[in-house]
Amino acid sequence: MLRKFLLQASTRRNFTASSSSSFAFFRQCSSSSQIPNSHFVEHLEDSAESPPSATISIDRTALYNPPEHSHEQSAESELVKHLKNIIKFRGGPITVAEYMEEVLTNPKAGYYINRDVFGADGDFITSPEVSQMFGEMIGVWAMCLWEQMGKPNKVNLVELGPGRGTLLADLLRGATKFKNFTDSLHIHMVECSPTLQKLQYQNLKCMTENSSDGNEEKRIKSTIAGAPVSWHASLEQVPTGLPTIIVAHEFFDALPLHQFQKASRGWCEKMVDVTENSSFRFVLSPQPTPATLYLMKRCKWADSEEIAKLDHIEVCPKAMDLTQEISKRIGIDGGGALIIDYGLNGIVSNSLQAIRKHKFVDILDNPGSADLSAYVDFAAIKHSAEEVSGVSVHGPMTQSQFLGSLGINFRVEALLENCTEEQAESLRTGYWRLVGEGEAPFWEGPDNQTPIGMGTRYLAMAIVNQKQGVPVPFQ
Ligand code: SAH
Repeated sequence: MLRKFLLQASTRRNFTASSSSSFAFFRQCSSSSQIPNSHFVEHLEDSAESPPSATISIDRTALYNPPEHSHEQSAESELVKHLKNIIKFRGGPITVAEYMEEVLTNPKAGYYINRDVFGADGDFITSPEVSQMFGEMIGVWAMCLWEQMGKPNKVNLVELGPGRGTLLADLLRGATKFKNFTDSLHIHMVECSPTLQKLQYQNLKCMTENSSDGNEEKRIKSTIAGAPVSWHASLEQVPTGLPTIIVAHEFFDALPLHQFQKASRGWCEKMVDVTENSSFRFVLSPQPTPATLYLMKRCKWADSEEIAKLDHIEVCPKAMDLTQEISKRIGIDGGGALIIDYGLNGIVSNSLQAIRKHKFVDILDNPGSADLSAYVDFAAIKHSAEEVSGVSVHGPMTQSQFLGSLGINFRVEALLENCTEEQAESLRTGYWRLVGEGEAPFWEGPDNQTPIGMGTRYLAMAIVNQKQGVPVPFQ
């Protein structure tokens, strides 16, 4: 199946063309570049209504740039007032995790809630938006796992934090020839943002129909592959009882984390407070906080020498708890999960960053108007999953190894066989962005500091039901 998939020329190989000079930067914090929002003919049709837009690409992983403050005088936003009220009524500072959760996902004013962060006015671009090949290769992974699962005729395919829905749209388009697979799918989107839910509905080319059994309930299905689609605010709400394939791409990096700093009195939690002149500032907790339990748990998984070298440590209890929830579900219902994100296979020290309008900014500056994200601690995910019985953990391996072993080289060659020069250039650039480690050979951008591919900064890890054996390409 793998070979057949990779070599069959896509019926939608008319990628959105873009000139080489438009790829000025790859997720790198700096001046603007135009990134194609989409890759397929259908998207070009969409763009007839809304013309292609300039999107700035940001590298949230490059931490070189000094933070900048905005010096604009602006009225306090609802979110800023809300955060100050929490601190005031609590009678003291809040944790960085509480701050991060409010800033990103506050139901009224959180960063993700009311905007398309990937669009023309967005701040960064992710792998699925770089090239259709990314979603297609995740499709290859999912189909291979489905085969290892014994080709069940009903499967929950869950995506955590689907953004614009591009990954699943590309996965389904690439898989349409494998009808037994697509017919088995019920798609579940775990998404907190109503704005992004609407975009996902559009990009999956959904339609709403009356339920066949005559009751009031409406059914939504994606017309790309005919699969039913449902939306949920959390994984907990996704029905259990069916074998499940879970994909989490750039989801864990947005989960709220606690920051600890070594002080003369030991490890203290970094907290967010308000000064007398009403601006936010960091303070250190005078005594141990509840999250210290998670710090202790995390430190037990690390070498004492590794800890001794650090004066900051980030701990993400939500990532640990979510990993256990995923693992329990997979241990009981069967299936597997794929987590891809930028991060380290070890303890993370001090990686939280804020990005607004294509620049790194102060984490405390005008919260809610900038993205916050941090490196993912893959070692903590692995240890958390291994505490659950019935699952095995594989990886992490680099994105470059992961996509390479799945055969992205064959895929790009197959696509290159029948396309225009412009499309070929877009394909090659996308390919190198996904797998490149350093300067990409096809790069013609004006800045010689960059580009850097996502090939080694991003890691892939799988958690699968032990019965399925080792998933591709982790053998
Ligand atoms: N996977 C996509 C988007 C990554 S950005 C891509 O690679 O392009 C993070 C996504 O997770 C957004 O869709 C955001 O709205 C969603 N998200 C962040 N925190 C969430 C939470 N706590 N619950 C549900 N969705 C969340």
